[in-house]
Amino acid sequence: MQKAVFLDRDGVINSDVGHYYIHKPEDFEFNDGVIEALLLLQAVGYVFVVISNQGGIAHGHFTVQDVEKVHEKLIHLMDENGINIKDIYFCPHHDRYEKCLCRKPDSINIEKAIGRFNIDIDKSFMIGDSLRDIQAAEKAGLRGIKIDSNQSLMTIVDQML
Ligand SMILES: [Mg+2]
Ligand SMILES: [Zn+2]
Repeated sequence: MQKAVFLDRDGVINSDVGHYYIHKPEDFEFNDGVIEALLLLQAVGYVFVVISNQGGIAHGHFTVQDVEKVHEKLIHLMDENGINIKDIYFCPHHDRYEKCLCRKPDSINIEKAIGRFNIDIDKSFMIGDSLRDIQAAEKAGLRGIKIDSNQSLMTIVDQML
């Protein structure tokens, strides 16, 4: 089994300052400390999975293809820094139109990754900047670590090392 760190996207991996939705690759930039923290965690054996709500798709603000372009950039930049992201799961729905089980605080996307990557939940974590990230983690049996939006992950990495 593998240990994993599940990561929320906006406000954790990348800055969401000045944007409610990040849907253009040019608006995507890493928060301070993300690369350093993930390299430390990767060195002690964690794998990474991103779990994101992208309700802006349901609202019609942007498309699945827009999100995929942002994710290509995310994966590419991580790769350039030597960090392997196993996969990015996102929910395109919003409660206003359709109830689903993949939007955090529900945990289906986390559970899919746990099964697919044979993840040991007792040794794994979810990092998020919203209460719903932590609720989703707990539903899946993981410990959640709540940060402030755009807080450096270097400030919490000790809790997982
Ligand atoms: Mg967030
Ligand atoms: Zn969903």
